[in-house]
Amino acid sequence: MSRQPAGLWPHSPHDLRRTELIDPGYPFAGASAWLPHGFDLVDRVLTRFSDLFRTAGYEEILLPTLVNEEILERQAESIKDFRRQLYFVGSEDSRQVVASSIEAQVCGLFAGWVAQGRTPPYRVFCVRTVGRHETSTPRPLWKERFVWPFFEAQVAVPPGSRPGGHGGADGFVSDLDFLVRGPQQVCLDIGLPTFAVERIYDSTAPKLYADRRLELVTILPNGEITILTSVYDLGVRFSDTFGVRYDGASMPMLNFAFSARLVLALLQHSGTVTGPRFHPDIAPIQVGVIATRSDDEDVASGIVRDLLAHGVRACAFVTGSGVGRRCATARELGIPVLLQVSSAERAPLGSWVRLISGERPREQDRPTPLGGAVALARETLRVEASRNGAVRSAGREPSPADPPSAALMGDGDLAELVGLCHRSSCVDETLRRARRDVIGRPYRWGVDTRRCAVCGVETEAAVMLGRKIRGEK
Ligand SMILES: [Zn+2]
Repeated sequence: MSRQPAGLWPHSPHDLRRTELIDPGYPFAGASAWLPHGFDLVDRVLTRFSDLFRTAGYEEILLPTLVNEEILERQAESIKDFRRQLYFVGSEDSRQVVASSIEAQVCGLFAGWVAQGRTPPYRVFCVRTVGRHETSTPRPLWKERFVWPFFEAQVAVPPGSRPGGHGGADGFVSDLDFLVRGPQQVCLDIGLPTFAVERIYDSTAPKLYADRRLELVTILPNGEITILTSVYDLGVRFSDTFGVRYDGASMPMLNFAFSARLVLALLQHSGTVTGPRFHPDIAPIQVGVIATRSDDEDVASGIVRDLLAHGVRACAFVTGSGVGRRCATARELGIPVLLQVSSAERAPLGSWVRLISGERPREQDRPTPLGGAVALARETLRVEASRNGAVRSAGREPSPADPPSAALMGDGDLAELVGLCHRSSCVDETLRRARRDVIGRPYRWGVDTRRCAVCGVETEAAVMLGRKIRGEK
């Protein structure tokens, strides 16, 4: 079997099952089942996002999976028609649709709150499964027919206030700014580097769905770009269509979403040749304790107890023939830190422990005498995370405001930032002629003055060009 380049994991649905993340074929392709270890990983990711939104004043809701076809017909007639991408559920007297997004559904909720006299702004979020009718071949976590997790948030502000300029959560200039930069900070915290961009549109194209679309994108280890989150400035389209009016006028709305694709990107950034190695903050098991021999079980279990008592999620590996096999089993679960332990009888040091830095123990990994309890501080885990490349840094952690590093942007074949002034003729020309995919303009990261690639005028405005993952719009 040929070895794949590092960072391109997962290679196949088989890998996702072997590493106990998902069963991509159950009950059928495109509707994956999450296995306990994988569910634990995603649950930690979702908790990060839920905590962020709750802190910013968003209330969690759960909407039903089915919506009336009539609601989607209203959306199709006045906003945009997605009906060919939906699953219909037939019955004698009415047809229902498997919900594919939150926007139309949440309008009914907001209209009810207006009727009750509740004062806006309204801010909600929701995690559930959505249905997307994929006619092309589904691919696990990236192109699923039933997508879980699907995390969405929606905001409605009083008429006359712009969501782009409204107060929003602490530390952000607006609700819109929060929906871009808050999730970006969460991504950074879990080892997922992102860039914030705003889509550009041809000046002649009608803006059917939203006035603006902002995204977090990531450059995967193979150089391809994929979209992780989207923020739509919906204006008053949905409020007009579904009657969400306050003080006699329609309420402006914003929508935020990410899907299981964010988890796929996380896996690819956590990838080694043989499997994942998760960021310690979200790893279901942070430390694997590998017994040197099966009769070291007691000392391994003792260390695990000490780690658990210090709040470190740990697990002992004592079964399987040989240290190498035990390490491989632990690595398949994406455990970032492995310790090898041995009991007193056979070692001149007495019982000892050592940090395994590679795939398996090496002579240069020095054993340390094990006197009493092991308390592995979070700091040690963070050091190991940066060694894994999970936190990409040069002496410090990157901040969301940082521009992309030269290493990521400098390769001309892959992703590049080029000057592009704001004249619509230059934008249209770029959209027509660019040989790479047009990713979007940098959102709130500084760009040096450069020349517009089309007209040559000096400008601080730019656009990111690159190659999107195959099949992505
Ligand atoms: Zn120009």
